[in-house]
Amino acid sequence: MLVEIIPLGGIEAVIKRETSSALRSVYGVDVSFQEAKQMPQTLYDKSRGQYLAEDLLEFIAQMGKADKIVVITNEDMYYKGRNYVFGLAYLGGKACVISTYRLKEQAQREFSNKTEQEVFVGRVRKEVIHEVGHTLGLEHCSNNRCVMSFSPTVLDVDRKDEYLCGPCRRELD
Ligand SMILES: [Zn+2]
Ligand SMILES: [Zn+2]
Repeated sequence: MLVEIIPLGGIEAVIKRETSSALRSVYGVDVSFQEAKQMPQTLYDKSRGQYLAEDLLEFIAQMGKADKIVVITNEDMYYKGRNYVFGLAYLGGKACVISTYRLKEQAQREFSNKTEQEVFVGRVRKEVIHEVGHTLGLEHCSNNRCVMSFSPTVLDVDRKDEYLCGPCRRELD
């Protein structure tokens, strides 16, 4: 299976490196990159200073020829009834979108043995694994250490591991 990562706007080189290694190690997929695409300014919600995640998913759905498409943006996103989201995917869908914007929030004290940058990169890895998991048909998991657990805050993201639990892993087999 080939997963293609498409940056929407600029993203850091470390994020490219880390997200592709995360996807390779967890799902055993091949990963390729497309050149960065321009953020679609017409979709920008000026009153909120955000993009609607659903709009971005629709925008990217036609891009790329790979089996799965992962779009990463540094812009802030929201979704129906939620002030912000880290990512969005539809179950079994082709594409998913991840925003790094809110993942930059400062870590809690108990995670301070890692640098801010390590914490940030770890969160992005987890969210990319999580959203790709949805595109592979995985639903939210009740095990809060599992990468497929629902994690609406950075604290939840920091608490979970970047791996699938046994039952989630078996669903993919
Ligand atoms: Zn989810
Ligand atoms: Zn699980």
